[in-house]
Amino acid sequence: MSDCLFCKIVAGEIPADIIKEGDDWLAFRDINPQAPTHVLIIPRQHVATLNDVEEDSADIIGSLTLAAKTIAREEGIADSGYRTVMNCNSDGGQSVYHIHVHLLGGRSMRWPPG
Ligand code: 5GP
Ligand code: ZN
Repeated sequence: MSDCLFCKIVAGEIPADIIKEGDDWLAFRDINPQAPTHVLIIPRQHVATLNDVEEDSADIIGSLTLAAKTIAREEGIADSGYRTVMNCNSDGGQSVYHIHVHLLGGRSMRWPPG
């Protein structure tokens, strides 16, 4: 998708603080961090929202989740704890329409989320 911000990061057209890459995903630091660790993990493939994940793209979700687990360990937050979030559409607070997992940690999270 030529007009998608995260596709441009995947293509290297927009800079990002990339911390880890896999065959089908990319992880980089959020530009506006909401916690001491705030990493976004995105598929290389463009999928707009969680609503658009179908059987043939479901493996992506597993890859993103495994990446989150690995990065949490590397960021030193695995044992203290962390939160993974996927926002969907406007009520979910999604602002970039290319699916991504937020990995948040390094502080105590509140519940329920706002
Ligand atoms: P959403 O609101 O869609 O769940 O999350 C989008 C996230 O992308 C937000 O946390 C926002 O701070 C982050 N973001 C938006 N633009 C950029 C950017 O250009 N670079 C990086 N690294 N993060 C971005
Ligand atoms: Zn995209």
